[in-house]
Amino acid sequence: MARHRNVRGYNYDEDFEDEDMFGQSVEDDYCISPATAAQFIYSKRDRHSSFTEPLEEEEEEEHNDEELEKQKASNIALSSVDQARLFSCLEHMREVLGETVLEQVMIDAALKCQFDVSKALELVFKQDSNTNTSTEPVSQDLLSTGKPAKGRSRDLTSMEAQNEIVPKIAKMTVSGKKQKMGFNIPSTASEVNGQAVPLSAKSQHMDDIVEESESTVPLPTQINTSQGSDELNAISQVKSSGKSKQKINVKEELEKRQGGKQLLNLVVIGHVDAGKSTLMGHLLYLLGHVNKRTMHKYEQESKKAGKASFAYAWVLDETGEERQRGVTMDVGMTKFETKSKVITLMDAPGHKDFIPNMITGAAQADVATLVVDASRGEFEAGFEAGGQTREHALLVRSLGVTQLAVAVNKMDQVNWQQDRFREVTSKLGHFLKQAGFKDSDVFYVPTSGLSGENLAKCSQIPDLTSWYKGPCLTDQIDSFKAPQRSTDKPFRLCASDVFKDQGSGFCVTGKIEAGYIQTGDRILAMPPNETCTVKGITLHDEAVDWAAAGDQVSLTLTGVDIIKINVGCVFCSQNEPIKACTRFRARVLIFNFDVPITQGFPVIIHYQTVSEPATIRKLVSVLHKSTGEVVKKKPKCLTKGMNAVIELQTQRPVALELYKDFKELGRFMLRYSGSSIAAGVVTEIKD
Ligand code: GDP
Repeated sequence: MARHRNVRGYNYDEDFEDEDMFGQSVEDDYCISPATAAQFIYSKRDRHSSFTEPLEEEEEEEHNDEELEKQKASNIALSSVDQARLFSCLEHMREVLGETVLEQVMIDAALKCQFDVSKALELVFKQDSNTNTSTEPVSQDLLSTGKPAKGRSRDLTSMEAQNEIVPKIAKMTVSGKKQKMGFNIPSTASEVNGQAVPLSAKSQHMDDIVEESESTVPLPTQINTSQGSDELNAISQVKSSGKSKQKINVKEELEKRQGGKQLLNLVVIGHVDAGKSTLMGHLLYLLGHVNKRTMHKYEQESKKAGKASFAYAWVLDETGEERQRGVTMDVGMTKFETKSKVITLMDAPGHKDFIPNMITGAAQADVATLVVDASRGEFEAGFEAGGQTREHALLVRSLGVTQLAVAVNKMDQVNWQQDRFREVTSKLGHFLKQAGFKDSDVFYVPTSGLSGENLAKCSQIPDLTSWYKGPCLTDQIDSFKAPQRSTDKPFRLCASDVFKDQGSGFCVTGKIEAGYIQTGDRILAMPPNETCTVKGITLHDEAVDWAAAGDQVSLTLTGVDIIKINVGCVFCSQNEPIKACTRFRARVLIFNFDVPITQGFPVIIHYQTVSEPATIRKLVSVLHKSTGEVVKKKPKCLTKGMNAVIELQTQRPVALELYKDFKELGRFMLRYSGSSIAAGVVTEIKD
């Protein structure tokens, strides 16, 4: 239960596209239409009972398992101290092995190795790699060979390198702790097909990674790749003393780096159980990012856990809790390539309890795939009252996503009927138009995440081909227009995570919203207005020398105390810094919220990864919805559907931009008591 924490880093931003400024009739409609806006309001009160029930069952199962384990262990005559050591050893082993190995096998190995966790694990792994079947128990013969154990990490490394080609999934948590799954994966298509990268390369000291990259990767920049840290410091000194380092041609370098492919950040959204994780997991499998052995392992594990149908979902749902509950909680991030694009995929949680996390993912997205369940009754449940289909679609639209691929999923359940497809798409089409999506930017693809039809290649099922001639989902995603990267603007990155890695300095992760960055650069953290040096840049777990707008990166920083850096802190160029303030004015649109908003109203302001308590200090004016003219000055209260100018006061300084200068950092969402109550854009920064 450690993962849905309420911290400063919640990433619910709110925003409007260029043309999203208030006064546009479509956008106005989407927020004020009672039918739609009612769905927008997220309330913790409306919990699904189905969400809690399986959990209870699981807890019971877990309890039984524990009992069983204790019984098994106590059958062996052990002193109470040894029993305790055994339990502790088993617990550690299970953390590594999960459910892949029989209980008895683990007990045997633990006893054999005198409760030494790494030796016991090694024994199990040795057996595993010999039999090449992850679920087979360790035979007694093998256990009794008593051969000296090799280092665990080496065994693990080689094993994973050979067998575990699975997508790298970085978890974008909303806390200060990075959750990264321990998969060893190649990051390019050639590596997938060829040799996998050894795990050790990944777990290296950050300094080593930088050094290694400097010595092996030809630098596209003018920085001498072989220079040591002294020289790097010298560069930063040069920079900080006002002279600028030779700049790279970012656009050219980006072209080279991506082999002509464009970068696209894709978020997968939709109601819980629509099949998002299954669909994307299966897609990754079909694209060669998950090998057969791993998939087999997931199948076995999910079967064992009584959740066989979730095998593909497990590719993305990585935590024990997610798997147990069968819901995605954090945002899983991974990378895949299509013909013309490099896609960073974010699998957002569908359940309403995790909407803040979903917003975190959506805030970083350029385009979205909305997954809807076509089965009778299910689509309706997701789309109508209480469902997340509407809320998610509204949220991503508010966050600036304009292009949408709708996967009309589970079409196998309705025998690929065209009528059902039409019914679903016409209902959705009407709503999506109201939500501000242009018809020409919304594409519907009939799919089956479970059977994999129409995901990576066009389906050959006659029931479908008789009426559907359009592209498969991958081709549809490939045809999205990639947004313009703001590489020529000053550098901006909003920290989505801050954590201490090995070695000197610490790491921050986040998406570069604007500009670009090179190793050795001196940048400013706002707040707290502290300067630091970029010692290393990691992109998709590879050390690089530079990164630019649109990239999801991890920066290793030195020269500032980690204590001073929070999630939500904006890193920016020293010469053109972002402003930090506690008071600013904004133009807001009030959603369907029943409580009148008065002066002094407490809210939580959300933008990018920032989540900060604030109060509405002044109600400045009410504006005309279409023309934007002032209709009333100093209103007493604001009610649903109103367009207004307000002044907000935050408790602590926040780094913001005017919407007209930086859309990404100038739009926000206001929430109150778990509900989204308004969206706004910054018009004036006070102090
Ligand atoms: P999520 O909550 O949206 O991520 O949904 P999951 O991927 O966890 O899937 C929920 C359930 O729907 C699982 O039992 C899946 O096996 C099932 N499911 C997903 N896609 C399909 C599909 O295309 N056809 C059928 N029949 N079942 C599916």
